[in-house]
Amino acid sequence: MLGTDKYLEGLANGDRRVLARAITLVESSNLQHQAQAHELLDQLPTVPSSIRLGLSGTPGVGKSTFIECLGLHLVEQGHKVAVLAVDPSSQRTGGSILGDKTRMERLARHPMAYIRPSPSGGFLGGVARHTRDAIALVEAAGFDVVLVETVGVGQSETAVAELSDLFVLLLSPGGGDELQGIKRGIMELADLVAVNKADGDLLPAAQRAVADHASALRLMRPRFQAWQPQVMKLSALTGDGVPELWSLVEDAIGKLRDSGEFTRQRQTQAVDAFTNQLQAAVWQRFARDLEIQNQLMQLKDDIHRGERSPSSAVGDMLAWLDMKTA
Ligand code: GDP
Repeated sequence: MLGTDKYLEGLANGDRRVLARAITLVESSNLQHQAQAHELLDQLPTVPSSIRLGLSGTPGVGKSTFIECLGLHLVEQGHKVAVLAVDPSSQRTGGSILGDKTRMERLARHPMAYIRPSPSGGFLGGVARHTRDAIALVEAAGFDVVLVETVGVGQSETAVAELSDLFVLLLSPGGGDELQGIKRGIMELADLVAVNKADGDLLPAAQRAVADHASALRLMRPRFQAWQPQVMKLSALTGDGVPELWSLVEDAIGKLRDSGEFTRQRQTQAVDAFTNQLQAAVWQRFARDLEIQNQLMQLKDDIHRGERSPSSAVGDMLAWLDMKTA
């Protein structure tokens, strides 16, 4: 195990091996590793100049093609780009959406890029927490643009929106919203909607999709005062529209910084992450205590049999906990 100073030094030098080890450290469930991870996380520099871009879209919409294209555009401009993922499917399959690096082969090989597959296993909250810590680590290692990818299934979008400064929703042309499984709640999170595959035969459909979604977005309450969500078309395959998308990202980030919303959002996200993680941690501690488990089981049985209401059971449980800790 490296000492915390060695981690900090390695990260400050942009050492990728140290970065990979540090991410493994924060993902570890070993208590000793966790203690060191916390020490490390508390000493990381904050990087207010970084851009955290969330990205979502249903499978097949072109996320990896887009990330490769945007990533290569960014490294050409001198940015250092990290790609992370929040992958809800990993809970079920143990696989991960970025696990298959061949999907972004050129970017993965680029010295200015770093692609980290999502941690597999664990519940969504845990995966999101690890990704949040990984963001802090890649930023400390000098990556100034962090792309956080997720696949479109609802809950994970919210988790990614809670980690990013700006949220991009990728759609494909044709197919109504129902077909694409895009829920209104996800559209509401989007600061930029990009209709991908605007090339060849799909171009007219892409144009129509842009118009449709522009009118849909106008009906939604914007997340920010300084930025109105926008819809555009692009082709991740040809690269058309990708530099324009990045210009919009820079424009939005600039406006959010000027209005103070950028900093406020990061502050709120950090405090919310604390609340969420604390809730999960308290619950985990509960789960480890057999006596508490027995008490919970008994109350659940009572509720199941209709012998008591959920509200009264909560009251009982709290009274029981007070007694136990008294
Ligand atoms: P993901 O599942 O969202 O990561 O989607 P992929 O990036 O793997 O792309 C799914 C399929 O769509 C692949 O066959 C891509 O070649 C294709 N694709 C991605 N972007 C474009 C695009 O801009 N235009 C066209 N015509 N096809 C694309």
